[in-house]
Amino acid sequence: MSHNNDVIANEEINPQKLQNAREIILALQAAMPDYIAAGSGPFLAAVYDENGHLVAQTANSVVGELCSNNHAEMNAIKAAEKALGTYDLSSHNLSLYVTSEPCMMCIGGIMWSGIKAVYYGVPSKEVEQITGFDEGFKPNWFDEFKKRGISVYGNIETEAGKKVLHDYVKNGNTVYQPERK
Ligand SMILES: [Zn+2]
Repeated sequence: MSHNNDVIANEEINPQKLQNAREIILALQAAMPDYIAAGSGPFLAAVYDENGHLVAQTANSVVGELCSNNHAEMNAIKAAEKALGTYDLSSHNLSLYVTSEPCMMCIGGIMWSGIKAVYYGVPSKEVEQITGFDEGFKPNWFDEFKKRGISVYGNIETEAGKKVLHDYVKNGNTVYQPERK
């Protein structure tokens, strides 16, 4: 595990990769209000190839599409696989950028997809504090991903991300929560 101010990673932090991720995640956070206005949940993900070309960009569409699996990351993986015509992205050396930390489902989805690197904004604890979404229990996924050759960088540009989430709640948007008892 390495640190650079608040940013954490499961490998030695590469300043170029981090700077690139800051720019992409800030752009995703800036685009978020338009997606929310169109009915999306407050999470946005993008998949890029190793040459910096965008392969897929999708928001959370749980409410609009009546599907609890449709988190931003799952939608982005599905769109990337469709675009590239494969269920195994591993030979494409793709990176996933997402506005908040992946939940327990998306960690599994990323592992199955063959994505090679994950960069996320707001950590789950803060997502839960701000919104009330239940992100689920998680194993030591930084180490588990490292074992499987998947890089993870987290807590990137969190202030911008937290503002989007605060606004989402303040504006009375849907916080999806199945009954727990
Ligand atoms: Zn998720």
